[in-house]
Amino acid sequence: MKKVIVIGAGASGLMAAYAAAKNGNEVLVIEKNEKAGKKIYITGKGRCNITNDISAEDFLPNVVSNRKFLTGCIYRFSPERLMRFLEDGGLSLKTERGGRVFPLSDKASDVTACLLRYCQNAGVIFHFNEKVTKIEVLDSTLSGIITDKGRYSPDCVLVCTGGVSYSATGSTGDGIRFARELGIQTVDLKPALCGIVCSAPFLKELQGLSLKNVRVSAYLGEKCVSSFFGEMLFTHFGISGPTVLSMSSEVNRLDVSKLRIAIDLKPALDAAALDRRVLRDFDKYINKKLSNALAELLPKKLILPIIAASGNDENAPVHSVTKAQRERLVHALKNFSLRAVSLRPIEEGIVTAGGVAVSEVDPKTMQCKKVKGLYFCGEALDVDAYTGGFNLQIAFSTGYAAGSSIG
Ligand SMILES: Cc1cc2nc3c(=O)[nH]c(=O)nc-3n(C[C@H](O)[C@H](O)[C@H](O)COP(=O)(O)OP(=O)(O)OC[C@H]3O[C@@H](n4cnc5c(N)ncnc54)[C@H](O)[C@@H]3O)c2cc1C
Repeated sequence: MKKVIVIGAGASGLMAAYAAAKNGNEVLVIEKNEKAGKKIYITGKGRCNITNDISAEDFLPNVVSNRKFLTGCIYRFSPERLMRFLEDGGLSLKTERGGRVFPLSDKASDVTACLLRYCQNAGVIFHFNEKVTKIEVLDSTLSGIITDKGRYSPDCVLVCTGGVSYSATGSTGDGIRFARELGIQTVDLKPALCGIVCSAPFLKELQGLSLKNVRVSAYLGEKCVSSFFGEMLFTHFGISGPTVLSMSSEVNRLDVSKLRIAIDLKPALDAAALDRRVLRDFDKYINKKLSNALAELLPKKLILPIIAASGNDENAPVHSVTKAQRERLVHALKNFSLRAVSLRPIEEGIVTAGGVAVSEVDPKTMQCKKVKGLYFCGEALDVDAYTGGFNLQIAFSTGYAAGSSIG
């Protein structure tokens, strides 16, 4: 039996604590908040998208950073296994569009309650309102931890302190700082799953407009560096919504200010088919102004920005529009462009990219290669994935890998 301290009572910490206690270890969780799972509480808009109901094999392509590192632990503690674990613990689940798994009650707090029940039944002790300030190491072996209330000398410490986004939940990057202080390599932190700030003359008018079935692509010069099909949203700062969140995770290591965002508003039609479609509308509205001939093709808010982007005159009668002008219109419909300025601040990222370098950590046990007895789990690691329940599953799988490897 080992003395184990888990720092942080979030998703990865609760799972790690349970797994370590179930193995017969004496486990103490130290959490600086007054309660467990403050971030879990706000996940999935308060409903908590716990995981995604797919196989481990299909899960992995949804990991953006360090897929290979995560492969073993996702196979070992897979979405299927997590779902069975939670249901056995009394949490009924449901699966929604895109395989997204939620508690049947739609209450994120029920997920935390289920994890806490597991921990309490396994004998885990909790210290709330206590903050870990330092990890001490002697001769490459963990020697103790300091908190604002005292000093402890456990055999193992599991750092489950999360990233740096939504810091009011307690995720303030402490674990990543501890790693740096101990000379453990970390990867620069970047926002992931966040909106993209854009500049374009018409953005204000488009605010609040949500588009479905569009293709959003990011170009660096002529090269397409990221492309997603689905929904997007125009906001007060630029663009957001599922396609844009995913895109932010793929471009956050690039110079975002050099990106051009191109929206294909009609991805199901190639240019020739779209031209035929535009012609049909033109035939119907032959004596109207161009701005009054596109209502069947576009949401109202987009008509003038698209005509402006095509360089055409919104007041031109449809019968006067030449083939070349029509082609420009089709081009604008398939390449509606915005200039990216930056990503939204890291505080607003749904996850933090970067963190403790995975090269420093054993992928089977999450134990630090440089410090015996020290483990890193969850978002403190340089791992992140798209939306859809993948990030919580990573927290649970890495937490389980660490906890179950002890004892
Ligand atoms: C708005 C929002 C919605 C999200 N929705 C989803 C979703 O629906 N599905 C999904 O898969 N993912 C979602 N995520 C991402 C997911 O919540 C995180 O990836 C996951 O919670 C990370 O778990 P973790 O255990 O690594 O860290 P956290 O959940 O951040 O937990 C870290 C804990 O450590 C504690 N701590 C930190 N430092 C110290 C210290 N020095 N001493 C003591 N305690 C400390 C913190 O107080 C905190 O309780 C969402 C994120 C946000 C911000």
